[in-house]
Amino acid sequence: MKPLRILFLASEADPFVKVGGLGDVAGSLPYALQSLGQDLDVRLVIPFHPSIRAEGLTLVRETVFTIPHYGREVPAQVFCTDVKGLPVYLISGAPVTGSLKVYDPNPKADGEKYVFFSMAALEMARRLEWRPDVVHANDWHTAPAVYAVRRMQNDPFWQGVKTVFSVHNLGYMGAEAENALLAYGLPPVEEPLLPEWARRQPMGQALWAADAIVAVSPSYAEEIQTPEYGYGLETYLQAHSEKITGIVNGIDYSLWNPAKDSALEANFDVTRLEERARNKANLQAQFGLTELPDAPLLAMVTRFDFQKGVDIALNALRMVTAQPWQAILLGTGNATLEEAARLLEAHFHHRVAAVIRFDARLSRQIYGGADILLMPSRYEPCGLAQMIAMRYGAIPLARATGGLRDTIADGRTGFLFTEPSPSVMAAAIRRAIHAYRNRETWQAMQRAAMAEDFSWEKSARQYADLYQSL
Ligand code: ADP
Repeated sequence: MKPLRILFLASEADPFVKVGGLGDVAGSLPYALQSLGQDLDVRLVIPFHPSIRAEGLTLVRETVFTIPHYGREVPAQVFCTDVKGLPVYLISGAPVTGSLKVYDPNPKADGEKYVFFSMAALEMARRLEWRPDVVHANDWHTAPAVYAVRRMQNDPFWQGVKTVFSVHNLGYMGAEAENALLAYGLPPVEEPLLPEWARRQPMGQALWAADAIVAVSPSYAEEIQTPEYGYGLETYLQAHSEKITGIVNGIDYSLWNPAKDSALEANFDVTRLEERARNKANLQAQFGLTELPDAPLLAMVTRFDFQKGVDIALNALRMVTAQPWQAILLGTGNATLEEAARLLEAHFHHRVAAVIRFDARLSRQIYGGADILLMPSRYEPCGLAQMIAMRYGAIPLARATGGLRDTIADGRTGFLFTEPSPSVMAAAIRRAIHAYRNRETWQAMQRAAMAEDFSWEKSARQYADLYQSL
């Protein structure tokens, strides 16, 4: 039997480019699928973003073609490289090279870029005469490919090709891509159960077109079918619940390993937890925080976005200032939230450090040295930071939603709270600080958290089974 061919599309993939969790997923799931030992031929396709540095990559120019855009033709170039045995295609063209950021601050430019990319990724397969069995797209950026495959079912090349659409974040639907969709030949979908506006957007179209929809955790799979998290698409999703599954993301255990992580001052594993103290001291020294043996070091590593509840955390911290704690807040994004974090630092000097940047190395030092990772997300489809934290012995304190609820056991591997309010989060922080005071309880929690298995293997197998079933 010939191997099952999977064309895996994403807007970002580590180590080429990473902005958030999707970069982690697209940079690790394809490898995990390859290593299952099942007969899968997986190929990853991402845009050749200007921030991807070509030096150090062995690039082969594969093919050049054009994509129709209204009356004119937009040239596309495809380059191929090989990373640990996985073929990775990078697609270039004016809509990609003209946009400096992976997610352009100008949403119209983003729309042009990603619809172009989605169409070019499909055309690439045809040019290379590599007919996939399954096209697997992720989030709105590559959603147009799912819709296009469905629309091309009369084309002998695409006939019978199945699609999987992973929803990492339903909140971002690609609303501004509407004109680009029309320009690249994708008209509104005719589906009465979808709200009128959703028929003209990448997310709505892919949810309609996909043979299978994957939400990135079992809880999120249920949540998106409710008004609270469904953004108006819940009626459609409820009616098609038979094609929705929840598969939790994994993390790459070779990339996230406290025993080998070169960013850490001191490496450790579950048998050498006391080594973490050096990492904590290193963080305190770097950020001018006083060394206080009894105070837990709280941390956030996140996009500064209201989704992530950064405001909830900042207000909650102000409510528990009578308790001993210190905090490091690493993140960038929304200017109001950045300012609020800086203000907390200004009010609580030597106690709070607001580090407003994206810093992969520092994030590792935080996971390896902080005591508690705060994740008060308003919604969290899966969340990776809590899994990384647990792998590094930092205990997550999180809102019980989506993937956080599915991966954290309250009182055993972390602390969960329900209502997204500062006072309820403050109560959870008090509870955590109380537990922290008892060294044995705390170490038992750390050991339990570190013993959890968040590696990709199990989830990759679920994806492989899904491909097979299609
Ligand atoms: P999301 O994908 O919604 O941003 P996740 O928790 O799934 O959230 O993934 C976030 C990923 O991005 C994690 O690997 C986290 O460590 C990383 N990250 C977020 N903000 C920063 C930052 N400022 N510096 C370094 N890494 C960050």
